[in-house]
Formats: sequence, C-alpha cells, structure tokens
Amino acid sequence: MSKYIKKVHAVLLAVCFLAIEPLHHHKIVHKPLIVTVVKSNKEYKGEYKIVATRDIPSGTNLFKIDGVLTKIPSRYSVQVGHNLHIDIPESYDMEMIINRFYWRFMNHSCEPNALIQGTECFALKPIEVGQEVTFNYNTTEYEIAEPFECCCGSDHCVGRIRGFRFLSHSEKEQIRPWIADHLLSFMEDDSEHFCIVDDR
Ligand SMILES: [Zn+2]
Repeated sequence: MSKYIKKVHAVLLAVCFLAIEPLHHHKIVHKPLIVTVVKSNKEYKGEYKIVATRDIPSGTNLFKIDGVLTKIPSRYSVQVGHNLHIDIPESYDMEMIINRFYWRFMNHSCEPNALIQGTECFALKPIEVGQEVTFNYNTTEYEIAEPFECCCGSDHCVGRIRGFRFLSHSEKEQIRPWIADHLLSFMEDDSEHFCIVDDR
C-alpha cells in the first residue's frame, strides 16, 4: 500500500469515526424529551431538579426508572417492592447520571404533580413547561435511608420526611390513592389496628 493510499485510508477512517461517534453517543443518552435536569436555586433540598420541557397533560408517562436492583436503600434509590430498591450503578459519573439516571434528581413534595407506579413515572396533573416535576417519597419508601425536613410549602406538608411507616393513620389515608402496591399491605395492617383502638 502506497503512502498516499495509507493517508487516504486514515482520513476515511477518521471521517467514519466522526460520523459514527455522535450516533454512538446518542445511543447512550436516555434523557427523555419531555423533562430535563436543571440546577435549582437551593430554595429546595436538592442541588438539581427535574423540570418539564413542554406542557404535559395529566396521566402522561414521563419516564421509566432504570438502574440496578438492590436490597439496600440509599439516599437516591426508589423502592419498588418489599425489600427491593432501584439505585444507580456506582461506576457512573455525574454527566452519565444526568443523562441516563436523571430520575435520581426528582425531588419530594407533599403535594406532588407526579407519581411512581412500579418503575414508571406518570404526571398526576397537568404540568406546565418549566415547572418542577416532583413525587411524594412517602408513597414508595417504607423507611427513608436519609430523612430530611421538607420545605415544599404545601398545606398538607408532613414536615420531616422519614418514610411511609412513620406517617400517622390520617396522613397515610390522605395519600392512599397514590401509594405503591408494596405499601398497601402495611396500610391494611394499620387500619385493623386503628379499628381495635377505636372500639375501646
Ligand atoms: Zn412537604
């Protein structure tokens, strides 16, 4: 192979690589089009938050919670079953987390506009473009790994967020329509207990 042909070959390879690279990059990015991650002004508990990039009708499937299944909850994991949580893999850097595991940045609200059913996130009400997307951590987490004080400002705010098991009976009843399936059995146990106390 002559030097000239070798050069042409190298240039062609570089062109091919440049043409393929963006596609490859695109393949890794799972960020959906209807929500995005932005830095918050620290008025909330998180440094980042998820906002709508367009007006979203109620009931819209916003995204899927994707990650590794684990029995050990963390600050950012989401509980999806009895003793079962979805967390992000440890090996990912911040850019990859923002692109692929953006769900980690969904903040809590006691009066949220989204909910999690199984591993899917849905809009509970119409969400306007630019509005933050939140869900109630107490509807999925039995016991939160790192409790925190809520600053959501809702009239229904329960204050310290520690998980479903720490809610009063009336607080559990208020969120009954939105609680995850794996917490429903605890709801029934609590109702029975409540009836016994009530009969005295
Ligand atoms: Zn609150």
